[in-house]
Amino acid sequence: MPPNNDPNSRETLAVHTSLLFDPIQKSFLKNVSVEVNTKTGAIARLYQRDSSHLPGPLSEHDIDLRGKVVLPGFVDSHTHIFLHSDKERLHSHQMRDESPVERTVRAVNHARAALLAGYTTYRDLGTEALGNADANLRDCINRGLTPGPRLLVATEALASNGSYEIRTENRLARGSAVGLTLPRASDPADGVWAVRAAVRRRVGEGADVIKFYADYRRRVMRFPPDTEGPGGRLLFPPDRRERNPALPLYSQEEMDAIVAEARLADVPVAAHAAETSTALMAVRAGVTTVEHIFADTSRCRDEMVAEMAGRGTIWVPTLSTAEEGFDEHKFECCKRAVKEAFDRGVRLAAGADTGVFNHGRNCREMEIMIEAGIPVEDVLVAGTYTGWHACGGDASGFRFGWWDEGNRADIVALDADPREDPKAFRKVSFVMKDGLVWKRDGRPVDAFPATQWPEEEAAESAEESGTLREPAAIPLRSALCAASTASPSAPSFGGPTPATSSIKGSRDPTPAATSDVGWETDSFDVNLG
Ligand SMILES: [Zn+2]
Repeated sequence: MPPNNDPNSRETLAVHTSLLFDPIQKSFLKNVSVEVNTKTGAIARLYQRDSSHLPGPLSEHDIDLRGKVVLPGFVDSHTHIFLHSDKERLHSHQMRDESPVERTVRAVNHARAALLAGYTTYRDLGTEALGNADANLRDCINRGLTPGPRLLVATEALASNGSYEIRTENRLARGSAVGLTLPRASDPADGVWAVRAAVRRRVGEGADVIKFYADYRRRVMRFPPDTEGPGGRLLFPPDRRERNPALPLYSQEEMDAIVAEARLADVPVAAHAAETSTALMAVRAGVTTVEHIFADTSRCRDEMVAEMAGRGTIWVPTLSTAEEGFDEHKFECCKRAVKEAFDRGVRLAAGADTGVFNHGRNCREMEIMIEAGIPVEDVLVAGTYTGWHACGGDASGFRFGWWDEGNRADIVALDADPREDPKAFRKVSFVMKDGLVWKRDGRPVDAFPATQWPEEEAAESAEESGTLREPAAIPLRSALCAASTASPSAPSFGGPTPATSSIKGSRDPTPAATSDVGWETDSFDVNLG
């Protein structure tokens, strides 16, 4: 079909590409154009051109991504938006010591960093002691108050009593006035009906996905961690693995009940598992995904891989955290295990457990998968289309991570080809989410106002003071509304409406508002903490 070149049409814009990855066909396609409906933020039409040439002159609203590698927006299937690197502060200390305000401000920065790194969707698996704040942040992003990936959240993870919580020795009796009171790190529930009630509670609180801990290192207080000074160390503790092994938190019946109840609510289920034996229980219960790498290579492994492949269970191995936490030998074992599972037909989703290290570096997970020997095309599927399935597919309320009419217009362009350049995922040149452009030519597109005064008043004061008139500024939310009713490429490419031109003005190469709010820069190593 020919492209829509109606110059009077303000409802669509075209994104022209010369190399586009299609996760369904698992191949790179040449000369595809994507028409985006600027009012709905959805893909209106996809068509392949005869050549790399454009069918006609480029309209001012259209976007030319020829020469770049174009992909659906990335999906990180395992994140914690409220956490920052463990190396900056242990995550248990973040939960214990950081104020809710600090954690929220950090999360806002994390969301920006992720979006600019090409991540248009996050499957966020637990606030870690911040209640349902992830649902609130999700809603703020969806309302256009602050930029970020589309969040699909778990709120609090389910765990059995006494199993996943902030540990302290300064607690003589739970719930008493003696000793510390700490925020809870999970929603504790035990027994078939109690776990069903907990799932209902999570759904009622706004969860998009149910997460539960199938196992955890829950005996830590039997041999408490070492501290500095006299009396700070146990004199003869058992070795590390004996000291605090990952143990099942739930019986098979409880896991079955969690999944059954989540199915009634049409919500996907993610199971944290460190051991293959408990992972196998979760897989048999029918979970959507199993999270993490497994600590052992026990006899269950063959059985588990077969069961996952047979059932279509998605494995989110979080190899990035294995790289952070394990020695080289163990990390290599993890990579081999994932490659082996892939070879035997297990579906993989790229979820980095981002938050254990800083947001914006999410692509490390895809890099490691490629290093493990998984073909680039399959890794791209794990980072896009399978991520959508991990989010529940259509049950998520959206279609993303693949190309079709009506899907969300989430588009990422790289300056390098991941088939040739192992660091290609770090070279994000362009980001569109829901039809709105957030990054162009490798630079953030700033939608923050230079002034809060109405346009006319700002113009008057500029004239009076003899300064050059800055383009009128509009609040971010208005910018999004204006852009969505005019052209979502307005921040990048300008347009005739006042709202459009004001955003265009903020595209100065070194915009003050950009540095003020701490946008991620070109540097991959920038730390937004
Ligand atoms: Zn996690």
